Amino acid sequence: MTISQKKSQLCPNCRGLISRDEPICPYCGLKSPGSWWKNNGVLRLFQEPDSFLTGLIGLNIALFILSLLMNPSGMGMGMSPFGFLSPDSRSLLLLGATGTMPIDSLHRWWSLVSANYLHGSLLHLIFNMIAVKQIGPMVIKEYGLARMFCIYTFGGIGGFLLSYLAGVPLTIGASAALCALIGAALYYGKNRGGTYGQQVFQQIGGWAISIFVFGLLVPGINNWAHGGGMATGILCGLLMGYQEKQRERLGHRLIGAACLIGTVIILFWAIVTAVNYRFF
Ligand SMILES: [Zn+2]
Repeated sequence: MTISQKKSQLCPNCRGLISRDEPICPYCGLKSPGSWWKNNGVLRLFQEPDSFLTGLIGLNIALFILSLLMNPSGMGMGMSPFGFLSPDSRSLLLLGATGTMPIDSLHRWWSLVSANYLHGSLLHLIFNMIAVKQIGPMVIKEYGLARMFCIYTFGGIGGFLLSYLAGVPLTIGASAALCALIGAALYYGKNRGGTYGQQVFQQIGGWAISIFVFGLLVPGINNWAHGGGMATGILCGLLMGYQEKQRERLGHRLIGAACLIGTVIILFWAIVTAVNYRFF
């Protein structure tokens, strides 16, 4: 009997073709690879990198539109292209912008997560989403999707925590999380070495430099969040490892799933309270 005649499936860990009733994956050693919870629910999402990235970008766009609709009359059209289509800061505060203002006076610690999904203008959103589209797949390739999302989430929290400690009153944007992806990719390139590692390091280093220069030239850019995000990304790479050193394990996927569930709950809470406060 060939494997295709049995109930076959891809191992949720290593993607090897296995039989569904296998007690242990012959390729990677994962126990009960056919069990329902390892193949469905949140963990299932980590098997579709392209759709996951599209969903992540879509979520940022949806929240941007919502932040504009919260108070259309307060929407800024901008004196410069950097301010074109900018939601008013009260709407952003309601939807979960972070900093000393929301954390110290409103005790919104969860805004360290929600602020990653908010943007201050159309250009801010476009720049960050292009970077996610460019850098995301590379980090997914070297770390796996679950670890990439861990880096993204922890990087956002780490970056905004540093900016909070530095006293930044109100801040938003995916760039702290993005800088974490950059940090993890730089760590990978440096640690792996060789021609390919050097190539990655140089290519991603270009992004790091342009974000740094951008931060110096454009007023209002939160360099604390960028630096904190990048440091967190390097630390995540060091602690969690990359595919060539250690293939993504179930443990990584479970941490990734916790990040995803936590993020969804926080964003849901932020949206419900903001819409309720604004319209009801
Ligand atoms: Zn396997």
